[in-house]
Amino acid sequence: MMDFELTEECRALQQTARDFAEKEIAPTVTADERAHRFQREIIARMGELGFWGCPVPEEYGGNGMGFVAHVVLCEEIARISCSLAVPFNTQTMGTSRAILEFGTAEQKRKYIPKLISAEWIGCFAVTESNAGNDVAAMTAVATRDGDHYLLNGTKTWVSLAQVAEVGLIFAYTTPELKHGGISAFIVDMNLPGISCSPDQEKLGWRAAPTAEIYLDDVSVPVSALLGNPGQGFEIMLRCFDNMRLTAAARAVGNCQALIDVSLKYATQRVQFGQEIGHFQMVQEVIARMVVETEAARLLTYRNANQKDRGVLHNTLETSMSKYFASEVASRIADDAFRITGAYGCSGQQRIGRLLRDAKMHQVLDGSSNIHKMIVATDALGYRRANR
Ligand SMILES: Cc1cc2nc3c(=O)[nH]c(=O)nc-3n(C[C@H](O)[C@H](O)[C@H](O)COP(=O)(O)OP(=O)(O)OC[C@H]3O[C@@H](n4cnc5c(N)ncnc54)[C@H](O)[C@@H]3O)c2cc1C
Repeated sequence: MMDFELTEECRALQQTARDFAEKEIAPTVTADERAHRFQREIIARMGELGFWGCPVPEEYGGNGMGFVAHVVLCEEIARISCSLAVPFNTQTMGTSRAILEFGTAEQKRKYIPKLISAEWIGCFAVTESNAGNDVAAMTAVATRDGDHYLLNGTKTWVSLAQVAEVGLIFAYTTPELKHGGISAFIVDMNLPGISCSPDQEKLGWRAAPTAEIYLDDVSVPVSALLGNPGQGFEIMLRCFDNMRLTAAARAVGNCQALIDVSLKYATQRVQFGQEIGHFQMVQEVIARMVVETEAARLLTYRNANQKDRGVLHNTLETSMSKYFASEVASRIADDAFRITGAYGCSGQQRIGRLLRDAKMHQVLDGSSNIHKMIVATDALGYRRANR
């Protein structure tokens, strides 16, 4: 049976998130983005409301509402602020869910409730200067030293690194094994030997800080390993399946915001004696924006619904939704720019921020090329995506 409607419970959650975003995020979002200001209090407040805990069971502080609820929330928050939607990955998918799926009972008890409540901020660190999409090119190492590991290396572009208490950090324990030699560590970000760069300058999402992490003989106990030594690449791919779903939802929220601004402008701006919304060429653009966003939303919901039905590792459907939603965001940012004319050219208006934010989706959480490759090699029968 197919049902395209959200449940009543999910619709109520959506309304809560919409109201929250309008009342508690919208009033300061422009100033926060301009000042590159990270709003930890808002993230904590979203923790109190249970926003970070949908795909996490109640026994670990979540609400167990599932993945569709997670994407609905993420979309609503991203509609007002892509920056404040980042923790749907860093608090939920890239840390809590990873620990839920691979952690020991003790790790789950220790970390997940504090991440879900946002008492602790989490980060997820794979990327290095020479390891972007090619994650196995990383050079960070973890060397066994008795009952500890010594972590050394430099991560880059890590969201919320400089404000995080907990990091899921990936490093080679056996470099000669390539992918099979990567391990994942749950790291206390205040340990001696860890330092971060200042906030990295970004085109968009400026209120979500990113930083390099410098690891200099950071000593972590063997109990900090998530999963087994050498299981890091598998854990990373499982995290990607979840994080890329969130990324698709974030792009859909950005698309909706672009539509909101365009509709408002098209029904207010008068030229040649009528609202510009009456011009057929403007209508053609608006029709495309609305339909493409709805298609991206449905792909994302289907992707989340599969996970709620227990198909957790739906890499193919995840790539389809992440790729499509990111491309739509970029395309309709261009459309919104055309509709809003000179107003859109002003970097000071909301539209300027939405345009900058929209370009980011194509790069993060696997670039569009990588997702096209996953979809095409699956279609061609060269490499099955869902393994
Ligand atoms: C704001 C921001 C936040 C981030 N947060 C995090 C985080 O929290 N944690 C983290 O670990 N990382 C994070 N990243 C890193 C992000 O995930 C990487 O930027 C992303 O993986 C892409 O890597 P890259 O930019 O080095 O691109 P590259 O891999 O260098 O790619 C450059 C270009 O080459 C293309 N390309 C590469 N390989 C192929 C191929 N095989 N076939 C076809 N085309 C290819 C790409 O599509 C792209 O167009 C963040 C980045 C940004 C900008």
